[in-house]
Amino acid sequence: ETYLPAEDRYSSMPYRPCGTSGLRLPAISLGFWHNFGDLSSMDTMRRICFTAFDHGITHFDLANNYGPDEGAAERNAGLILTRYFRGHRDELIVSTKAGYGMWPGPYGDGGSRKYLLSSLDASLKRLNLDYVDIFYHHRPDPDTPLEETMGALNQAVTSGRALYAGLSNYDGPTLKKACAILDGLHCPFVICQNRYSILDRTVERNGLKEAAAATGKGVITYSPLAQGLLTDRYLNGVPDDSRIGRGGRFLKRSDLTPARLEITRKLNDLARSRGQSLAQMSLAWLLRDRAVTSVLVGASRPSQILDDLGALENLDFAGEELEEIDRLSAA
Ligand code: NDP
Repeated sequence: ETYLPAEDRYSSMPYRPCGTSGLRLPAISLGFWHNFGDLSSMDTMRRICFTAFDHGITHFDLANNYGPDEGAAERNAGLILTRYFRGHRDELIVSTKAGYGMWPGPYGDGGSRKYLLSSLDASLKRLNLDYVDIFYHHRPDPDTPLEETMGALNQAVTSGRALYAGLSNYDGPTLKKACAILDGLHCPFVICQNRYSILDRTVERNGLKEAAAATGKGVITYSPLAQGLLTDRYLNGVPDDSRIGRGGRFLKRSDLTPARLEITRKLNDLARSRGQSLAQMSLAWLLRDRAVTSVLVGASRPSQILDDLGALENLDFAGEELEEIDRLSAA
């Protein structure tokens, strides 16, 4: 089977500037954390990629450890990119990361130069790419000097393994320190990747959002649908094929408290009154804010991407709607 991307793939997706850099990202990006491991079917995986790219989703986000098992998502993405996207490499932004535990011993975790650069080499092999577009440090490592970690990111770029550098899960003060070091190195550091959703406002409290704006960096928000809680997935029970139903390690039945369900039901009613699905309203709520470059969604099937894309049709909120969302989510 060959893949011919839709000719009108650039007709409706907005591309938003990544901070003050020249890089533009699609308002909606696709993440490979779940659903691209060795338990998923290749047919579903490639159809998710085709649907995304056909609608202007030019950014695929990975990490060394995405699976299961670790490395599997990069390997599967590599097969798909090689087989179907070969002629479109210059239309894609592929990112990867290192920072969580990846292999045994002291050099397979953290923020050392040793770990970051060897991990990136292994990622490139699995992805079957010469370079990634963005290479992230996946989480801050208090046991490694920031100078060393930032130096490794810079070397990833100067050695041609990555075009841009990014930081994930940093808070405001650490971002500012890292940024000063990267500026000194003239490193093209352009993006922060953090969790942000109606249900998780950490970046508003830990200074990250403010620091990203002050330093001119883009923000890409992960788990914008709270892993599926901010969708209609769990409104009527736990489907077997859902992240919770499949026995996920990161989203569990115990996360689905009666109080949470009550909130999502009310948010769902509000979304319906706006003519949106809950997923669409949740993405629109993030994208109404120009400081958010892109929302990074996951999908277990192509239809979810199509639903998510509908968010772009209405990013405007009335003051009362915003207050209602704040009131409900604070409960
Ligand atoms: P989301 O909050 O977007 O959750 C995705 C899940 O929500 C899907 O797997 C699906 O669940 C469900 N879903 C999505 N769209 C719909 C829809 N329209 N209707 C119903 N259900 C829907 O994000 P993720 O938690 O998956 O994270 C997204 C990406 O962010 C990751 O793939 C990764 O790239 C990145 N990330 C980065 C981290 C970091 O530390 N930097 C940490 C975590 C994620 P179901 O499977 O049940 O169908």
